Amino acid sequence: MSTTPYESLVADLKEANAIGSVLSLLGWDQQVNLPPQSHDRRGEQMAALSKVYFNAATNPRIGESLSAIEAKGDAATDDEKVVRKHVRKDYDRLTKLSAEFVAEKARLDTEAFQVWTQAKPASDFAMFAPFLQRQIDMAKREAAMLGEPDAYDYFIDKHDPGMTAVRIEALFNELKRDLVPLVRRIVGSPVKADRSRFKGFPAELQRVFSREVSAAVGFNFDRGRLDTAVHPFCSGDAKDTRMTTKFKEDFPLSSVFSSLHESGHALYEQGLPMDMLGTPLGEAVGMGMHESQSRLWENQVGRGRAFWKRFEPRFREVFAPRLDGVSSEALYLAINDVGLTPVRVDSDEVTYNLHIILRFEIERALFAGTLAVADLPGVWRAKAKELLGLELRSDAEGVLQDVHWSGGAFGYFPSYCIGNMIASQLWYTVLKAMPDLERDFERGDFSRLLGWLRTNIHAHGRRYDTEDLVKRVTGEGISPKHLLRYLNERYVPLYCG
Ligand code: ZN
Repeated sequence: MSTTPYESLVADLKEANAIGSVLSLLGWDQQVNLPPQSHDRRGEQMAALSKVYFNAATNPRIGESLSAIEAKGDAATDDEKVVRKHVRKDYDRLTKLSAEFVAEKARLDTEAFQVWTQAKPASDFAMFAPFLQRQIDMAKREAAMLGEPDAYDYFIDKHDPGMTAVRIEALFNELKRDLVPLVRRIVGSPVKADRSRFKGFPAELQRVFSREVSAAVGFNFDRGRLDTAVHPFCSGDAKDTRMTTKFKEDFPLSSVFSSLHESGHALYEQGLPMDMLGTPLGEAVGMGMHESQSRLWENQVGRGRAFWKRFEPRFREVFAPRLDGVSSEALYLAINDVGLTPVRVDSDEVTYNLHIILRFEIERALFAGTLAVADLPGVWRAKAKELLGLELRSDAEGVLQDVHWSGGAFGYFPSYCIGNMIASQLWYTVLKAMPDLERDFERGDFSRLLGWLRTNIHAHGRRYDTEDLVKRVTGEGISPKHLLRYLNERYVPLYCG
């Protein structure tokens, strides 16, 4: 029996993906289990396997199958159209960049990262600046080699298919207009959360509680694991999902929310069509949609009163007697603590979006050529003042704080805020369909919400681009008004009531 180009393509993609998943597993193991003196060995293993992966992913047969499916034009099936669109982009990225370019980029990534790790503690932007300039130049060269007319849009599309800088700018400007005054109101309020009562919460007990919460929202521990790592992440796929969290003994709520966040990512992975794993029909849409899933579970669900009606008694029981004397209202305020910090990763869900808008505006100007790398620290400080009302003390807590640019990861930051907007938009859509949904949460039952996400988001893989899927599910394009509504409904009564 002869196979069709589509069947051949799917088989080749699945094989490459299986090899890639072993690489990802080695990466997971490196962050979770690897003995400290074994990193060299792991480097050798990963380099060797990377070559095998590259050969599988650039197999000329993939190119031939792809051309044959493209030649079918409109006669191709819907599935074929989805697969060829995304695989063409991925295949070109792997095959059209010269070997010299790829090697140069790998060297630059290593070097720039090492320089950044020194420049940050020294707060020495001048040390890092030439490497950032080189990453921007490389990014522009990459886009040009692929025939992409706009380098920044090319990088945005890598993370969120179909999105552009112009579209994001319109969304962020609308969000900024109402969010800046809202943040001023909340941080100006005399109501403050008190974290001083959360001392000495053993990691072992936090692990127990985190696992319970992850299982309750629907994480399948028979097809995945929850471990600890310095920086929490979720990797793996629908059949074997590896998520990690971390435990801060002086603030156990942070591990609860990091576990819920990663569970949101994991639930998306576990809900993707397993039979199409390794092809665009079994993959997530992009970063923004992925982030919408993690944020929805972490914030809309996990920081809500209904969720804590179910979990507060258990939280107190697991950590008894440490929360004696902390009222329910004080606990709820600590769960929804909002305050200003110059550091993005330490910020709360309200101010977080302003940190992203700042980075987007800077990246956009850098790529447009209207901002020189040398002027970056000053512009960063001015924007921190304008958006957050903060006076920065150093570049370490300003322009040097994030690792992303050292690796040339441009166009990635906006995804976080796009994810926040989509999360709120999905939240109000599901509440419209199921007005009593939060009653379920009070009983610890999240199956209706997960079922809705499975059907409306997860089941489609990459069939629709980010905004197309949002439109399909919610009836309108991405809009910041839902995020603004959510933040107002949750935080104004708490801080300005
Ligand atoms: Zn995330």
